[in-house]
Amino acid sequence: MVKHEHNRAEDQIEKARRELDSSTASAGTHLVSATNELFQHEAAPRHLDTLLTDLGERTLYDAAAQCNRCGYCETVCPTYVLTGRETISARGRNQFMRLLVEGKEKNPADAREALSTCLLCGACTSACYAKVPTPDIVLEGRRALEGYGDNLLSNAAVGTLLNAPWLFSLWLKLCYLVKMSGLPRLAAGMGLYHFIGMPGLAEAEASVNKVPLRFAAEILRKDPELRPEGKRDLKWAYFAACGPNYLFTDVAAATVRLLKRYSGEGVFIENHCCGLLAHNYGRLEDARKFAQKNIEIYEALRSSHGDFAIIADCASCAAFMKSYEQLFTADPSWRKRAADFAAAVKDILEFVNPEDFPSTARAQAPQGGTVTYHDSCRACHGQGIRREPRAVIRKLAGKRYVELPESEWCCGGAGAFAFTQPEISGQVLDRKLRNIASVQAQTVVVGATSCLIQINAGLRAAYPSAEAVHYSVFLDRMTGGSPVKK
Ligand code: SF4
Ligand code: SF4
Repeated sequence: MVKHEHNRAEDQIEKARRELDSSTASAGTHLVSATNELFQHEAAPRHLDTLLTDLGERTLYDAAAQCNRCGYCETVCPTYVLTGRETISARGRNQFMRLLVEGKEKNPADAREALSTCLLCGACTSACYAKVPTPDIVLEGRRALEGYGDNLLSNAAVGTLLNAPWLFSLWLKLCYLVKMSGLPRLAAGMGLYHFIGMPGLAEAEASVNKVPLRFAAEILRKDPELRPEGKRDLKWAYFAACGPNYLFTDVAAATVRLLKRYSGEGVFIENHCCGLLAHNYGRLEDARKFAQKNIEIYEALRSSHGDFAIIADCASCAAFMKSYEQLFTADPSWRKRAADFAAAVKDILEFVNPEDFPSTARAQAPQGGTVTYHDSCRACHGQGIRREPRAVIRKLAGKRYVELPESEWCCGGAGAFAFTQPEISGQVLDRKLRNIASVQAQTVVVGATSCLIQINAGLRAAYPSAEAVHYSVFLDRMTGGSPVKK
């Protein structure tokens, strides 16, 4: 009798398992066949095959279904906190994605709004016990939006960046020359950007006040100390992400000076763009191509010089490169190579240690006002980096360092979010600025170039006695690099 009951229980478990398998399989079918306006998954190359979550490899549907709607994330999701609207919370977004994949979402306009207003900050995932990867889920939803990432300007920009970086550099320098002429500001003043339906361009132009005409890669390529020849004990290879390369060349120079000073032998890896822009703006195939080019460069250097760390100084790019494996889960030949590359990536925020600096460093550092640290989203949520930069800044700034209230609150920069969603971005930034003002900070140390643009644009307007400074530039100034700004 007991044996009979036992067999029946086993049969029931097996039946439940088969049902679960078939529901997962049917969700996969929806993934491929759903053709409603928002979720056209027949464009498979535009999508990730699976997501690599903290709980294991999942289909998009299973990852979204991991959300049990507990609401723990609501208190940290900026768009929910500012509006109180469930539809633009992490929980709401995951629910939309489930319904979209099931073909049950009845209101595409709501779904479109939910997907396009997400900052991709990842605060929800940090707060979530199930570690639901909402930013990745949202990106998958965006890639299903008709026309997402498919416009003339982005096609031209990504295409040239990928296939003819020299032409991209030339094109960018021409844009910078036009900016220096003052014409864009004039156009903004005349309302031309609004007239052509691209008001974000005016914001983008105004948020950057200095542009270089010589890019970091051009300078580093000519530095004989950064050549691989003759190096026997290679410790690091500097990866010039697009922000430091094309805009904040002082950041790239400071990072390289720091690495040379404290981290042994290194090289400039002559990289391509990491692919993050293509990844986040609907061009996954191009993102894969960027990744493959970088992986090949890394492998060639490793075969001649052994293991070394790839150092990036923009937290968004470092976090993305650490996730390269996710781009290739359907491609076994590239998956392992991508995982090896990702394992070598280090953010400068985690690479430099307090012990690297002599105990006299604080006494010798230039004096100044109060210093605080803003956790760039892709550093704290994307890579779990929180403790390391604080330890170094504290060592160098001593009592001048104060904790920033709500330091993990996004600044609202989030790549191009500040230009595509200026209203929400402004509200998110406003809270960051109030927190900075509340501790009367003069220097706000950040680890991503998007934060540098966004916070400095806000500070210039609302709190001009303070400035945001990249982590590398701050460390370089404090340890004998370029002089402190007076
Ligand atoms: S995303 Fe996570 S924290 Fe937020 S409601 Fe879902 S399970 Fe809860
Ligand atoms: S990524 Fe940020 S904005 Fe998007 S749902 Fe999560 S917490 Fe909210």
